[in-house]
Amino acid sequence: MEIKKLLELGLNILGEREYLNGPLDVILILSYLLDVDKSYIYTHGDRQVSEKIVDKFLELTQKRKAGWPMAYLINEKEFYGLNFYIEEGVLIPRPDTEILVDYILNEAIKNYQGSISILDLGSGSGCIGIALAYYIKNAKVYSIDIDDKALEVTRKNVERFHLQDRVIVMRGNILEEINSLQIDEKVDIIVSNPPYIPKKDIEQLQIEVKCFEPRRALDGGIDGLDFYKKIIPASKKYLKSGGMLIFEIGYDQGDSLVELFESENYENINVIKDLQGLDRVIFGTLP
Ligand code: GLN
Repeated sequence: MEIKKLLELGLNILGEREYLNGPLDVILILSYLLDVDKSYIYTHGDRQVSEKIVDKFLELTQKRKAGWPMAYLINEKEFYGLNFYIEEGVLIPRPDTEILVDYILNEAIKNYQGSISILDLGSGSGCIGIALAYYIKNAKVYSIDIDDKALEVTRKNVERFHLQDRVIVMRGNILEEINSLQIDEKVDIIVSNPPYIPKKDIEQLQIEVKCFEPRRALDGGIDGLDFYKKIIPASKKYLKSGGMLIFEIGYDQGDSLVELFESENYENINVIKDLQGLDRVIFGTLP
């Protein structure tokens, strides 16, 4: 079948729905299956593809229709200019999280000319710690997660970007055993994008998220703050004096988080808002 005919079939399957970009999704699926760039698809509408590709394409398009996120279908998601390997079972990197990485990169350029150590709690796909290690050449990163799939995907991504010598991937349980992580030095920065959605809000999320992404990476307990309440007090054990604790947070969690930071005597506490003017990141420094 010709590429352009196949794309048409795919578009008909997908139809229209919020959060679904039919024309882009069919092209991404086909370029993934043919292992070519998007631009190849645009310029080779007349090329014939095999029956095997047609079947696989229709299968993935049906899955997309049913709500599967694109990143799980094509095993890839771009984050901060890097293409991460992604599969079902890990949280998909979000553009919002680039704000967190961006802030740390700027701080690192300003304040850390020597070596810098970073602890990423709840690494998921590994995207935060790996992007930091990739762009900060003197950084050493500890990526911690409790989940086997997350550890496996983080390791894959560490290899993908050849960062084995500077990113250490370790299992650790933030909720139950935050005080017994095996980190052999105090670090300059602790960063985390923990699960922070209040349990009752999860059902309101779009189908791609609530039905296909891991609950474990989203559910922050009754008020969404379970992980922050564990990490903030425990962070002092792992952070150097003058070091920074920085989190991604939910859109309305800024005030509660400022209080939690203050109750542990953090200084220079600031909330960064996203482009929509909503709370997105909080940081503070340890005296
Ligand atoms: N930002 C994500 C979402 O809205 C949540 C990520 C998280 O809980 N850390 O789906």
